[in-house]
Amino acid sequence: MTAALPAHIEATSPHVMNTYGRLPIALSHGQGCRVWDVNGKQYLDGLGGIAVNTLGHNHPRLVPALQDQISKIIHSSNYYHVPGQEVLAAKLVELSGLTNVFFCSTGLEANEAALKLARKFGHDKGINRPEIVVYEKAFHGRSIATLSATGNTKVQAGFGPLVEGFIRVPLNDVAALEAATAGNPNVVAVFFEAIQGEGGINPMDAGYMQQVRKLCDKNDWLLMIDEVQCGMGRTGKWFAHQWAGIQPDVMPLAKGLGSGVPIGAVVAGPRAAHIFGPGNHGTTFGGNPLAMRAGIETLKIMEEDGLLANAAKVGAHLKAALSRELAAELKSGRVKEIRGFGLMLGIDLAVPCGEILQRAADKGLLLSVTADSVIRLVPPLILSEAEADEIVAILCPLIKQLLAEKP
Ligand SMILES: *Cc1c(COP(=O)(O)O)cnc(C)c1O
Repeated sequence: MTAALPAHIEATSPHVMNTYGRLPIALSHGQGCRVWDVNGKQYLDGLGGIAVNTLGHNHPRLVPALQDQISKIIHSSNYYHVPGQEVLAAKLVELSGLTNVFFCSTGLEANEAALKLARKFGHDKGINRPEIVVYEKAFHGRSIATLSATGNTKVQAGFGPLVEGFIRVPLNDVAALEAATAGNPNVVAVFFEAIQGEGGINPMDAGYMQQVRKLCDKNDWLLMIDEVQCGMGRTGKWFAHQWAGIQPDVMPLAKGLGSGVPIGAVVAGPRAAHIFGPGNHGTTFGGNPLAMRAGIETLKIMEEDGLLANAAKVGAHLKAALSRELAAELKSGRVKEIRGFGLMLGIDLAVPCGEILQRAADKGLLLSVTADSVIRLVPPLILSEAEADEIVAILCPLIKQLLAEKP
């Protein structure tokens, strides 16, 4: 399988830690929703760098803005004011209806800050052993605290002892949440992804999110919604929880916010915005001028080009086309469900489907598989309907072939 890879790429492997089961592909450049590998082979990008490349590749307005920023200042440190932080924070406040932002560089870092906020929220009101409600199949990152919050024993295996102070409940089950927290004075927060990404594209129901909001208000808990993957316009609203018409108290962001430049943010509402004071939390890279410029330009271009509407429209087109092409398989149950909103879609198969990654790549399509049997599509938000049709034309025959091989 690795024969197609140029020798100089294989030669780098002995020194890079073996943390990913990588395909034998090395990408060299991209344009829009297309990428090319070092051998010149072209791919349609159904992965978007795992929901990161919001504007696709080599965007004609993002790239010059970043070049301009790099030539001025890349990094300055949080010992000084970074004017871009206030600009981007104000924009995120406007889009979310929340009030204050902490900037960092990755998703796990945003979640780690959210967990610290929740614990300090508890300590500030005299709860010395705060507990946070988390969910089955959740994914919040790979630091010790965030992997402890994650609901996947594969992510946790080998890294115990896990961080304590988490209560785990099933998705979309208010009674289970009430039972798990009944009479427990140490609960300080409920923490979930509005649509679970790594767990297999599992949406929280709007009604459930509304009821959790009410429970949080009643019990003085923080509602913390991890929008690291499902946020930033991917579902057709800025943040996926907005479909439920609610607001969280704490919202970690990352992936798509910088269209490829590493950036994370924790956006907080009035109940959580003033928990941290000087010395409580920090980061060297977070909020640096390059990341801020990337975030500012990404949001600006998304608005100018109507990318939320595009994500909703093209996503609905893609989902409908997949459902049509796979109608027989959906009927027979070999395709269990096609889930998700906008350009965050999962095709849940009745069988494991890891092989499809290489087969799709061979046919010129990049995508991913989560939870062993869910094909995940999280392409750039600039995807066109014609490109969506191309995804369907490549992917559906491969799904049918795979299902035929695994009766
Ligand atoms: C990817 C992801 C994370 C972790 O982000 P990193 O940048 O990899 O640390 C956390 N939460 C969710 C929902 C994610 O999808």
